[in-house]
Amino acid sequence: MKTLNVKKRATSAAVEKVLGNASTMRVGTKDLNIETIQCGYCGVSHTYERKRKAKLYCSNKCGVAFHGKYVRDKAKLALRVTSYYKNNYAKRLIVTSKQSANKKQIAHTVTEKHINSQLATGCCQVTGLPIKSNIGTGEKRGSYSPSLDRIDNSVGYHDSNVRIVSWGYNVAKNKFSDRDLNNLAIALTASHLGKNERAKFKALLPLSLLAGLPAGYKL
Ligand SMILES: [Zn+2]
Repeated sequence: MKTLNVKKRATSAAVEKVLGNASTMRVGTKDLNIETIQCGYCGVSHTYERKRKAKLYCSNKCGVAFHGKYVRDKAKLALRVTSYYKNNYAKRLIVTSKQSANKKQIAHTVTEKHINSQLATGCCQVTGLPIKSNIGTGEKRGSYSPSLDRIDNSVGYHDSNVRIVSWGYNVAKNKFSDRDLNNLAIALTASHLGKNERAKFKALLPLSLLAGLPAGYKL
């Protein structure tokens, strides 16, 4: 088992370093436990204040790199991540929305509580269509997968500005306006109705929707 050996070697090297260099420094009235280790990945020596268990790497970056190179059983890890996000879907939506917030350089304060409360309804907050996560099912993300929608795209990711919608709605809204989507829904529904039903359907629609229909369209 090559993988295990490499991990063991790095671990024991780091522990030896820690034992060899442990020292206590008195700062003010507080004892600081200062230790120096040799990074298990890049080999650079690193001095830090030990609060809990001994560090093995100089930085988080090196720890991630080490695991990526030697330890990670990619298939097993993928399975673990999948089952984690299956049970914590809100966390996944937070992670991905944080990434896009960083990319767009906009604020992100969305809470897990807000997302979970909307996910618990099992419905798209705009259309009311049932939503279901594809994670762990072996299926691809589809029209009814839950996704995070920013109500006002000029505002950042805040609880008051995000809602859980079906991915299908989100994708369509990405390119077109709410008005375009309403028109599409009205026209599609009407196309399945007979002449009399169309008139009844039209009578049921609020004026705000009728006013948004494109010129030249006869409902
Ligand atoms: Zn390092």
